[in-house]
Amino acid sequence: MKKGKNILVDRYGRRLTYLRLSVTDRCNLRCQYCMPQINFSWLPHDSILTYEEILKICRTLTAIGVTKVRLTGGEPLVRRDLISLAEKLTEIDGLEEICITTNGVLLEEYADGLFKAGIRHINISLDSMNPERFAYITGFDLFEQVWRGIEKALEKGFSPIKINSVIMKGINDNEITALAGLSLKYPVQVRFIEFMPVGHDIFWNPARFVSCDKIRNQVEDAFGKLRPLPKSQSAGPASEYVMDNALGSVGFIGALSHRFCESCNRLRLTAEGRLRLCLFSDKEVDVKKALRQGLDTEELALFFRQAVLKKPKGLEFLDKEKLSCTRSMSSIGG
Ligand code: SAM
Ligand code: SF4
Repeated sequence: MKKGKNILVDRYGRRLTYLRLSVTDRCNLRCQYCMPQINFSWLPHDSILTYEEILKICRTLTAIGVTKVRLTGGEPLVRRDLISLAEKLTEIDGLEEICITTNGVLLEEYADGLFKAGIRHINISLDSMNPERFAYITGFDLFEQVWRGIEKALEKGFSPIKINSVIMKGINDNEITALAGLSLKYPVQVRFIEFMPVGHDIFWNPARFVSCDKIRNQVEDAFGKLRPLPKSQSAGPASEYVMDNALGSVGFIGALSHRFCESCNRLRLTAEGRLRLCLFSDKEVDVKKALRQGLDTEELALFFRQAVLKKPKGLEFLDKEKLSCTRSMSSIGG
């Protein structure tokens, strides 16, 4: 590709450096806040991007300014041979960071392979330390298996390890202290995520929403004043804090209460190859179609440069730009 300006920038001057790459919409859990419990089907295999296509997209995006890719899903570890994709991603020049978000169910099995492939940053979703509640939220009695996956990740030395917890009033808000307490004992960052209304037929109900400020207050009531950490490179939109004598830290992602659209650097690619420019907007660009029409790398780069100009300014324009989100989080990748 001809050397062009090595930045990908939208109409509002935001540099897009981070791709959330959903490798599958399939999942081995069925979290109530993420995936519809009825009338739901997986994408047919032939409609999802092949690894060759994914790599071509990632090489192109890296050449024009993307520096970080997160493997997500559905559950990324259920896609066959994910490790080989991870290995090839780590070979892309200029791609500085490759990380993964997983539910942890298959982590005990795949932690070695991920580590060998060069992945170090791992986010593991865990909304409850109580096996019964875990089963209620996720539909599967697999708490112990996930916990073994977390232990394996700690043993391997992944760093940072972030534990993502979505807090829902009346469901797991009584576990805020227990979850935050993990950061005292383990070198992990427990990240509290606000419940978001993404997709249809999920558990969403405004009465279940708990703001990050409330969550933080509860943590401080239990553990004392939290010390803010300087903004780290891997913090993203999270504000990060530490408790006295803790091995790890806690983070808060208030996507609804503290909007971070102004500094949004994210692109999302769905498993069937649609570029999603904002989590909350169903306006997508069909990358797979363009790819399968035979665009070469240079044409693809131009395609992306034009596509990102459609990125909405932000949530405050929800009505004006008619943002709507009918896709489930499991088919977007979070
Ligand atoms: N299966 C993997 C996992 O669970 O970590 C990756 C995909 S999942 C869609 C990515 C993240 O989205 C998870 O941390 C999950 O908790 C979060 N998530 C899903 N639905 C959500 C919702 N309605 N509100 C907030 N976070 C949500
Ligand atoms: Fe699956 Fe992750 Fe969604 Fe849970 S949050 S249903 S593990 S994709």
